[in-house]
Amino acid sequence: MKSEAKKFFAEAAWVQGAWAKDVLLTVAGNGAWHSVEPNATAQQQEGATRLSGPVLPGLVNAHSHAFQRAMAGLTERRSAGAHASDDFWSWRDRMYTAANRITPEQLEAIAGQLYAELLAGGYTQVCDFHYLHNDISGAPYANPIEMSLALVRAAQRTGIGLTLLPTLYMRSGFKATGLREDQRRFSSTPESVMRMVEDIQRQTRGDARINAGVAVHSLRAASPAAIHELTGAAKAAGLPVHIHIAEQTQEVDDCLAHTGQRPIEWLLNHADVDARWNLVHATHATPAELQGVQGKGASIVICPATEANLGDGVFDLPAYAAAGGKWSIGSDSHVTRSWPEELRLLEYSQRLTLRQRNIAARILEQESSAAGLFEAALAGGLPATGQMQGGLVPGHRADFVTVDMESPALLGVPPGHALDALVFSSPGVAFGEVFVAGDQAMAPELAEVFRRAMRELWLN
Ligand SMILES: [Zn+2]
Repeated sequence: MKSEAKKFFAEAAWVQGAWAKDVLLTVAGNGAWHSVEPNATAQQQEGATRLSGPVLPGLVNAHSHAFQRAMAGLTERRSAGAHASDDFWSWRDRMYTAANRITPEQLEAIAGQLYAELLAGGYTQVCDFHYLHNDISGAPYANPIEMSLALVRAAQRTGIGLTLLPTLYMRSGFKATGLREDQRRFSSTPESVMRMVEDIQRQTRGDARINAGVAVHSLRAASPAAIHELTGAAKAAGLPVHIHIAEQTQEVDDCLAHTGQRPIEWLLNHADVDARWNLVHATHATPAELQGVQGKGASIVICPATEANLGDGVFDLPAYAAAGGKWSIGSDSHVTRSWPEELRLLEYSQRLTLRQRNIAARILEQESSAAGLFEAALAGGLPATGQMQGGLVPGHRADFVTVDMESPALLGVPPGHALDALVFSSPGVAFGEVFVAGDQAMAPELAEVFRRAMRELWLN
């Protein structure tokens, strides 16, 4: 989608890690920044669209399973039985009951609502780690990317950018040779995943906001040979690669029992991990493993709200930051849809563990915790999407949001502290306008179709 060059003016904008004043922002016809000029004169401002508040670059949401938005708030009751315990695995069984019901129409309705909420929450791009490939009986749809196209349509309708990651899922555990009955919708092969990538690319050609990469569900869900085959093809095609890893201690124990190595240790030793790789969670990692991830130039995707909701554990941010590691954030199961909440929780989990304050500021060598967290998460957008996305920088995609300084949490806050208050004063901060590739995203009215899909899923 080509558009004419556009000019915007903002009294304040977040440029290279700090607030700059009187910034003239020019978008080229391809939707990328042509120039970003602080201290613009009155003459330079002429003809530019005046933005309503301070401008922040849009953030990439690097990990999403869109259908799980339909479960937010619905897995918060204890399991039946006096000795039953609730953990990740009992949550997963409940998640499967939703996964096994959703139709393409319902997925589009759920993703539409989710993507509109993500835009309102300050995200301008989402990486959907998509494994609901087959129909409810487990057979491929007549069009194998039927479910992927539901996500594409939802993204196009809301205007959010989408990196679609068809996911390899072949077996139910390290020792299994196939999938469980309730996992048949996920069934895929390296070849089918690459075919989905090509079909998605063909169907969305010309839309600068949509691209594709690949995902491997986890080490337990695919054999070493299949991982090698898919990630080799992804490398040849220059695609980003995502994988869930070391989220749960049981996964670490199973991997140790099966291979003699911890999951990240195994991956670093056996896969061709490089800067295109995104390791999702990495919650249970040793400092040596984190050092190894940094050494390969790979990134970690931290999902603070979901990791808290599922009882995963706390990511070792100090050890990873000390190694100089790259990371992004994701909202994964979508129990929250706002990046300020994710960054706040990431910092708070460290404070609760270490009984200190302003951990991120110290370990990321910044004055402000919010600035340190935001800058790091921003830099993680490029490896997660494989696209030039990561700030108000010429050549990067022109994704940005305006901050509503009339929000209760920002009233009277000195302008230099706006980002701090946006992350650490809650609730009440709203984003104003949202732009993706230089175009304003206008939220369509999707509540009714979402409500109908929820009713069909949970009340029938
Ligand atoms: Zn996930």
